[in-house]
Amino acid sequence: MTEEMIAAAAGHFETLLREQLRRQARMAQGAESKDYAKADHIVIGIADGDGIGPIIMREARRAAEKLLRGEIASGRVELREIRGLTLEDRLACAQAVPADALEAVKGCDVLLKGPTTTPKGGTLESANVTLRRELDLYANVRPVCVPEEGIDWIFFRENTEGEYALGSRGIEIPGELTMDFKVTTDAGTRRIARMAFEYARANGKNRVAIVTKANIMKKTDGMFSRIAHEVASDYPDIEAEDWYIDIMTANLVNPAVRNRFQVFLLPNLYGDIITDEAAQIQGGVGTAGSANLGSRYAMFEAVHGSAPRKIESGEGDYANPASILKALELLLRHIAMPEKADRLAEALHLCTETERRVVVTGHRDGASCREFGDYLLEKL
Ligand code: NAD
Repeated sequence: MTEEMIAAAAGHFETLLREQLRRQARMAQGAESKDYAKADHIVIGIADGDGIGPIIMREARRAAEKLLRGEIASGRVELREIRGLTLEDRLACAQAVPADALEAVKGCDVLLKGPTTTPKGGTLESANVTLRRELDLYANVRPVCVPEEGIDWIFFRENTEGEYALGSRGIEIPGELTMDFKVTTDAGTRRIARMAFEYARANGKNRVAIVTKANIMKKTDGMFSRIAHEVASDYPDIEAEDWYIDIMTANLVNPAVRNRFQVFLLPNLYGDIITDEAAQIQGGVGTAGSANLGSRYAMFEAVHGSAPRKIESGEGDYANPASILKALELLLRHIAMPEKADRLAEALHLCTETERRVVVTGHRDGASCREFGDYLLEKL
């Protein structure tokens, strides 16, 4: 019986290996990107998501409509509702992203998305993981700022590989062992490293921290680190530093050293974990937004989930919309509208840091999401 299982597992492994080699070959060919500064029509898809999603997205939509009023009126920008992505829709057709919703998303240039619930257990895959894979959104970019401490970090997390590429396709010899796979490709690492160093150069940063566990994961993280350094050699004015993920998680909670870091470049799983830690340092997951970038498409969202317990306890209306508003700021920058992004960032800073006339706490003791949205619109 065990011999048969070993043979079956070896066959399964060969299938995975061939699939991943094909994926790497497709990536190496690259994809065409859009020059938004010159584009005469930009479609922004809007998907509400689940739980607190529709509540926080209502405020993001109002802010987008105000900031882009002229462009919407002239037809240069279109805000397009994307339906079919709620948990009920996904469960009804047993698809992580229903085919017609995926087609609608692919008809847009960028997507502003509320959080989507992934049920525990069962077979429904995460809508996010599926969208990242289908749209090839290879970079997860998260800025974290704490101005009073001099913290101005930006994380470039590889978004499609590592432990996530084959997360549901491991091997099991029942009662004896389980084995998952971690994948690092040349093309996949090169493109995320390039994006991080390009960002550093364009934004006057002189240091990039390459964060891995290459002392233990010698093949995958070893390759990630080696390729990151190869890319770094094209940027002699930027220092590429090697860090291990364990000490880096400690560094982030060490006020004596943490403000020296600028740009972080990480494989998928480490990036997933450490960016939530970083968001917490900034003030909680309700305060952070993220961008999922590919060559052709991009998706912008809050870093948190759909907060189902908040809905159950009747506190959904008190959710903090700052996270999705920061995602909107990232979206505006991505579509080459930096002055609109700055306007939103300044208004948000005024509302949450300096003036703070309306304060959201995430609970009934604070202002509601809607009240905060009214306050922000007044300042925009
Ligand atoms: P969560 O992020 O939804 O909630 C974690 C904690 O943060 C909770 O206490 C919640 O009340 C609080 N919180 C989250 N957003 C807030 C906001 N805007 N304002 C105030 N407080 C806020 O994490 P979870 O409970 O682990 O996940 C819930 C669901 O969301 C799961 O189904 C998960 O799969 C999904 N999820 C989706 C995404 C996404 O779509 N990008 C990301 C993470 C989790």
